[in-house]
Parts: sequence; C-alpha cells; structure tokens
Amino acid sequence: MSFSDFQFESAFRLASQVYLDVYENINEHYPSDLFDSSDSKFQQKILIPHKQTLLHDYIAYWHEFYLDYAIDKTGYDYVIEEVIKGLDHYGINYTLEDESDESYCNLVEEYKKLTPRIVNETFTLLFNDKRLVRAFNEDIARIIFDMKKTDYPDLLSKDGVVLRRQYLPQWLKDGVFFRDKGRCQLCGIDLTRLLNAGSKIHYDHIIPLELGGNNDPTNFQILCESCNTSKGARHSGTRNLIPIYWSFDED
Ligand SMILES: [Zn+2]
Repeated sequence: MSFSDFQFESAFRLASQVYLDVYENINEHYPSDLFDSSDSKFQQKILIPHKQTLLHDYIAYWHEFYLDYAIDKTGYDYVIEEVIKGLDHYGINYTLEDESDESYCNLVEEYKKLTPRIVNETFTLLFNDKRLVRAFNEDIARIIFDMKKTDYPDLLSKDGVVLRRQYLPQWLKDGVFFRDKGRCQLCGIDLTRLLNAGSKIHYDHIIPLELGGNNDPTNFQILCESCNTSKGARHSGTRNLIPIYWSFDED
C-alpha cells in the first residue's frame, strides 16, 4: 500500500460539488452528460478496469470547469484566493508579478498542473461512499442502456449489457478489499481469513452488468459467497459499512 500526504482543502470543496451534482444535478452536469458511447476511451473504460477511472475523469472535468466558469462569470477575484492557497499547500513556488489578469492567469495555469493530485485526493474521499459510486454508475448506465450489440460486438454481450471480465487486476482487488475493510458489504462478515478461514471473496458489480453496470473500478465491492448468491443479477444492493473510531454505547 502506498501513502500520500493529502492536503484535502481543495479536495473537500471539489468532493462536495461532485456530490451535489451526482445526487441533485444542481449544475446540470450529470456524469452521463460528460461521457459519450462513441468515444473509444469511454468504451475501453467500461470494458476494462483503468486506474484512471470514469470518476477521476468526471472530477477532473469538474475541477477545471469550476475554475473556468468562475473566472468567466466573476473574473479572477473569486478564485484567486483559493488558487494561491492551493499552490501554497502543495508547496509550489510561484511569483505574482502584479495584480493584472495576466499574472492571475499564470497562477491559475500553475494551479491546473496540480489537477491530477487534487483529483486523486477527491477520488479517495468519494470512493469511500458506495451510495455515491452507485448513483454515479447508475447514471453511466443510462448511456450503456442505449448501446447496441450490433454496433459494439467486442464490448457488449447483448444490447445494453457490457461483457464480464473473467480476471480482475490485482491492484483493483487490493484497492476494493482495502476500502471495504475486508468485510462483505451486505452482511458485514469478515473476509480477511483471519477470523474466518476458507471464506471466499466475490468482487461484485454494485450495478449489475444486466442493469447497465460496467467494469470501471468504481462499480465493484466485496461480498461473501452467500450474499453474492442471494443478491442476484438484477439487484444493486450496497451499504456503507464504515468502522467507527469509538462507540457511544459502551462504557
Ligand atoms: Zn455477506
């Protein structure tokens, strides 16, 4: 497992924007508005798990859109404070020549170079919320529903259903297992094999492929054998089983 020193400030702001948009579409940018079935990158990502997930792409879009939109509407005043804070937090050296739009524009360009880091932090916050990733993938399913097997024979098993991957990459299994703390996300049983020898781990599509789900890393969770069997192909059950740091119920 690798560790990174997160700054969080930009990530929390960005995470809340993405959150509101996925659930409430306050800015009229549903994920399904951003992606396009005819785009080969999108096709690759719904078929084969990529480390740069569809959610990363959506967050990155938001990050730059927010900056450009704010600058367009109100000039640099509204964003420059955040840009400078962001550059400071990430330890980026910059010089602000004067208070002209040109100088501000240069700072914004510097700040945009931080996009991959800010996006990854934001992703790490949002990936923890399986109801959010379910809503995200539910929306992506609106695109997949309309895709025909005759148009995409290497991508779909039938109309609106993406092909199943027989093998998932180890980095994906490790990441999902770690996020889910080694517990079945429906019944909570321990799947680490420390307490429960022989337990079989299922990497489950939160939105089943039959319902327009896809193979993006954000659409997976771990389940035990029994929950996997009973969940069935037409059920998108998930829970947020988060360990709490201390309980108020005990002395
Ligand atoms: Zn279970």
